[in-house]
Amino acid sequence: MNSGDTERAIQCAAEAFEVWKETTAKERSNILRRWVDLCNENKEDLAKILTLEMGKPLQESIGELNYGIGFLEWFAEEARRVYGDIIPSPAKSKKMFVLKQPIGVTGMITPWNFPHAMITRKAGPAIAAGCTVVLKPAEDTPYSALALCELAEKAGLPPGVLNVITCSRDNSAEVGKTLCKSPTIKQISFTGSTPVGKILLEQSASTVKKVSLENGGNAPFIVFETADIDKAVTGVMGSKFRNTGQACICANRIMVQDSIYETFLDALAKRMKQELHIGDGFNPKSTQGPLINARAVEKIDHLVQDAKSNGAVILLGGQRKEGNFYEPTLIRDVTTDMRCYNEEQFGPLAAVIRFKTEEEAIYLANNTSSGLAGYVFTENISQMWRIAEKLEFGIVGVNEGLPAMPEAIFGGWKESGLGREGGKYGLEDYLEIKYVCMGGLE
Ligand code: ADP
Repeated sequence: MNSGDTERAIQCAAEAFEVWKETTAKERSNILRRWVDLCNENKEDLAKILTLEMGKPLQESIGELNYGIGFLEWFAEEARRVYGDIIPSPAKSKKMFVLKQPIGVTGMITPWNFPHAMITRKAGPAIAAGCTVVLKPAEDTPYSALALCELAEKAGLPPGVLNVITCSRDNSAEVGKTLCKSPTIKQISFTGSTPVGKILLEQSASTVKKVSLENGGNAPFIVFETADIDKAVTGVMGSKFRNTGQACICANRIMVQDSIYETFLDALAKRMKQELHIGDGFNPKSTQGPLINARAVEKIDHLVQDAKSNGAVILLGGQRKEGNFYEPTLIRDVTTDMRCYNEEQFGPLAAVIRFKTEEEAIYLANNTSSGLAGYVFTENISQMWRIAEKLEFGIVGVNEGLPAMPEAIFGGWKESGLGREGGKYGLEDYLEIKYVCMGGLE
């Protein structure tokens, strides 16, 4: 599809908004609940679609569906709790209120790494709030989006409330621009790379749109000598190798304190050898699917070669495999000038850096323009609080590699984003607030 199709979808969404915004929160909640039930009833099929189009192991697809359906469920509940305020008035003749109302037609652009959950985390709250949606899923993974639409229709979501524009990579820029520049669209929500997020923010300036961005990360994963090493290794295995390393909150810079550096590397290498098996996502033994496309394989290989030529040592992996597979890779002696330290890796690469003091660890962790997720492993409770407060990231995992949940909030500081998804703040991006002053009272 192209920009003309996008214009038509925006028109449909605008017409549907006139009806949808008049529904009660309970009516919207009921439809979302039916959508949840249908997603659960069809979970196996949805998981197969996910694995087929994206490559992740079937068990991980089920995991993504549990997470993604969780957002529809959460926002079906939250829809009924959009409270306004009554402001105590300084004048007897005036009453003062704050109303919360749906912002209008929203435009969404989502990535391929979580083809289901990135949609429900945005469309769930938008629809719950009374907004309508024009969604452009990633070109590599359109089918999960279309399957969600099919089930939404069966759940009773009226036509025009959720519109999907599938398009090629070549048409992505024009579709994105049409969404951002449209005066009808009142809010843009994006998850993807930081450079594209910045383009959308600029393009949205001419109509002064509210923009929510979940851009890229460069997550530090700090393991102090006070850590339980087994817990820290388990944390890396989840944070780094889930989705074959293709998540924006994946550990990107694994920082390990000097005194435990060798012990930690040995323990991580052992677990990687035992637990990571690359292969077809439909094979129950596979834990590591293929990377999304040839471009992603090129990128990870370049990062590994760059590190190697600058003095890092490859302990495991480091080779491409047939298809879009890449061996789970462990490299040591990584330094701050290497590409793998400075760029988001998005692949199965554990790059391990050595640090000496707590001050150095904090400095290194925060010395980046990204601020999405950071992790710290220590059993010292004072150090836990100290580091959790000092890290300049929107999400901090303390002795935990998998912090994302529908009840929690998700979003970044610095160039990693604007706004928050999920949790009790997740509806706010889709609401406008209005001050009503009622005067002339006796
Ligand atoms: P990745 O490199 O991981 O694919 P992107 O940020 O390029 O990350 O992609 C995330 C989403 O943004 C996808 O849906 C993609 O089609 C879309 N996209 C890519 N380029 C643009 C653009 N110039 N304008 C709007 N959307 C874009």
